[in-house]
Amino acid sequence: MAGTTARREDEKLSRAVGPRSANALAKLGLETVGDLLGHYPRRYADPGRLTDLGSLEIGEHATVMARVEWATVRTMRARSGALLEATITDGRHKLSLTFFGKHKGGLYGFEQRLKPGSSGLFSGTVGVYKGVRQLAHPDFIMLGEQDLDSDEALLEHASRPIPIYPASASISSWKIQQAARVVVDTLTDDDVVDPLPAEVRSRLRLPGRVAALRMVHRPESMEAVRVGQHRLRFEEAFVLQAALAQRRARAAQEDATARPHRAPGAPSILADFDASLPFELTEGQRWVGEEIAAELASPRPMQRLLQGEVGSGKTVVALRAMLQVVDAGGQAALLAPTEVLAAQHARTLRILLGPLAEGGLLGGADHGTRIALLTGSLGAAARKKALLQAASGEAGIVVGTHALLGEHVQFADLGLVVVDEQHRFGVEQRDALRAKGRVSPHLLVMTATPIPRTVAMTVFGDLETSSLTQVPAGRAGVTTHMVPAGNVAWVDRTWQRVREEVEKGHRAYVVCPRIHPDEDLPAGGAAAAADFDTVPEFLALAGPGGRGGGPGGDDAGGSDRPPLRAVLEVADELRERPQLAGLQIGVLHGQLAPPDKDAAMARFSSGETPVLVATTVVEVGVDVPEATVMVIFDADRFGISQLHQLRGRVGRGADPGLCLLVSDAEPGTPAAARLEAMVRTTDGFELANLDLEQRSEGDVLGAAQSGRSSSLRLLRVVKDADLIELARREAGPIVAADPDLTGLPDLAAAIAAQLDEQQEEFLERA
Ligand code: ADP
Ligand code: MG
Repeated sequence: MAGTTARREDEKLSRAVGPRSANALAKLGLETVGDLLGHYPRRYADPGRLTDLGSLEIGEHATVMARVEWATVRTMRARSGALLEATITDGRHKLSLTFFGKHKGGLYGFEQRLKPGSSGLFSGTVGVYKGVRQLAHPDFIMLGEQDLDSDEALLEHASRPIPIYPASASISSWKIQQAARVVVDTLTDDDVVDPLPAEVRSRLRLPGRVAALRMVHRPESMEAVRVGQHRLRFEEAFVLQAALAQRRARAAQEDATARPHRAPGAPSILADFDASLPFELTEGQRWVGEEIAAELASPRPMQRLLQGEVGSGKTVVALRAMLQVVDAGGQAALLAPTEVLAAQHARTLRILLGPLAEGGLLGGADHGTRIALLTGSLGAAARKKALLQAASGEAGIVVGTHALLGEHVQFADLGLVVVDEQHRFGVEQRDALRAKGRVSPHLLVMTATPIPRTVAMTVFGDLETSSLTQVPAGRAGVTTHMVPAGNVAWVDRTWQRVREEVEKGHRAYVVCPRIHPDEDLPAGGAAAAADFDTVPEFLALAGPGGRGGGPGGDDAGGSDRPPLRAVLEVADELRERPQLAGLQIGVLHGQLAPPDKDAAMARFSSGETPVLVATTVVEVGVDVPEATVMVIFDADRFGISQLHQLRGRVGRGADPGLCLLVSDAEPGTPAAARLEAMVRTTDGFELANLDLEQRSEGDVLGAAQSGRSSSLRLLRVVKDADLIELARREAGPIVAADPDLTGLPDLAAAIAAQLDEQQEEFLERA
């Protein structure tokens, strides 16, 4: 049937369920039978159990199972018309219902259906009237009631779970249920593509796709729901892993230029650099370095992810790889997420390389190279020079932001691309890069924070992974304390400590969630959203409204707490503080022009302004070894990974670091738990896990993924870790045996369909 006739899945809903339902479903973006089948119920109501009405949030569109207490119609005195009022209950909480009508008669029908003591499903937007929570004009259907459009009762079987669909004001959950039922009842195995190979299905004892869809849309029991969902989840994981395996297989067939080490004794920047290193490489740096060196020496493109604890020394690993490529006659590009970080990298590399980065200059090493910095904010002349150095090959290393991927940037011979501190460097960017060289450049992606294995497998599933878990010896580490925002003595002591550190020749960061005091930012997510030069870090980001445990997650209303501290306000305040009298205080935030940012960073680094009040621009990668103190205001507004990153900026040298978390988080709240965890441990993996536990899936995958648009509908990257691993194990050999999937057209089609539209987007954003 495939290829000849269109599948039932592609059939328009107007044909399948009639134009009226189809119109309503179209408002949810559901156009085809396949769309509707993929619109899975969000949860299931048990007809014997009422929904907890206490958990409803004002403004949410809710569908609840509840019991009617009473319902009466009366004529309104103030204005003409009639009013039906009713109260429904879950046995503990109540919700009032109101319906308006022109006259009493029009409402009697409703009143009769709302029999006291009977239960039903009620659907509407939760509002408040005179302090009482209510649904105005809810849609409802009573248990056992004949549905007008169907010849059977919809909620007939008292024992069967009732699917509750993501619904809206334009279409109720049970209208969707009805449409799904019409479709599911007439579906045959030929109607839908089943991407799971029969052999995998039977070995893992999974039901066929049509059977699974029935279990999910028209379940006989919760056990059936579980079996159906499991099969559909596995399918999502399998298709994704098969797609990633295909990418790995294709990349492994691409050509790359081999960049082996120079022969012993031949002039080599890498050898000179190693000889000049002021410290010993850690065991991990050496080991990962060898792994990378071997891959660079092969004619297949390296595709590697380097995960490293904050401060584990990823830059040196990357630099050594870049030097190997330069020694072999190629160029390396280093991409940073922000201009601040790109500029810092260029500075650090020049310092680390010394004369080796002054090739062709008087006093430079004969066989040395040059480092070009290419960012969006360069003046025309500087930009032209950098572009020329890249195109001519004069610059062996080109540092920049993602603007480097712009089409007009030419390289003489791009051999290696290093992407620093990025979780979000997606497939498309990888492809854009590959297209830059005549052959594929080698690729090294470095992530900021330890990420859980399955997230790595999903988001970076087409890359091989290495990890740096230790930090170099001789680090004094960081101690963390909480400072209650309202405790004057503690706050004074905080600034006293800052002063003491500065007097020892050290530096202090002061981090605030906002820039301007009068800035009107939505509660929650403000911290993360306020100030990124590019996309915020994966895991560090909590979406607007602060779901789960992200910044602001616990007091989304946030009305009775003091406003968030702002950089400009705090800087002024600190200039007045007796403890800091006479100290120069700098500011750094995302609204400064790029050269001003650089200048602010340079003044801090040199000690001219030893106290820097900043937003989270200092979060990733910033490396000022003299920095020993970090004071974080409104610390409860930041996510764990973000706090971990921020804290990673201090205690990088031989002197112990101190991190002070200023907050008024109530003990016992998730926010307080985050801060307590920060005080307790500096282990990035432990913190990343706690972070994941506190977060909802939407946060993990990015806001764009939590909505209906995600092609991952049921799969939960964190909770379904085992399933993802299983899918990876199953998909690997199948793709290896038949990389183009010629023998499995349904799988190939599913990959094409998903990857084309949504998966690419998912891989980009996740
Ligand atoms: P991250 O992995 O967080 O990017 P960096 O690469 O910025 O860490 O390294 C942090 C600091 O540690 C830098 O100042 C760097 O020079 C220093 N460093 C790196 N490797 C070593 C080592 N083996 N011994 C001592 N210091 C090191
Ligand atoms: Mg770094």
